[in-house]
Amino acid sequence: MNQLTIEQIKDKYGILHNPKAPKCRFSVENGWLRLIDKLSSFIEFQIKDLSNEDKDKIYVTQIKNKFGGLRYYLNFPEKDYPDIQYKIDGAIAFAESLSFHICQKCGNEGKQQGWHTLCNNCNIGA
Ligand SMILES: [Zn+2]
Repeated sequence: MNQLTIEQIKDKYGILHNPKAPKCRFSVENGWLRLIDKLSSFIEFQIKDLSNEDKDKIYVTQIKNKFGGLRYYLNFPEKDYPDIQYKIDGAIAFAESLSFHICQKCGNEGKQQGWHTLCNNCNIGA
């Protein structure tokens, strides 16, 4: 499988490198990058028809691991597009729940072990 790097994902999505927004704090290991790639792709598809001015208000502030699960914090102008926000919120919640079954280090099937989600191989090395 072709593994993307954090830098490649940042370059790929405007919501992750908006020059008018605060820099996104990105602190996860490689296992979840594919999930983050798909989620970011879904979000960008949902906002593709908005004006550039509105797109500038939509950006990711932080992506991290909290208690073994993905946290993906998106700034979104709340009242402006409730129907789009509804879909995006659902996708983020779905991705966050999936992360508890994906090894945070290698991306294979994993399970939550304490504050980490790991496969059996990576758990030995942890
Ligand atoms: Zn693993």
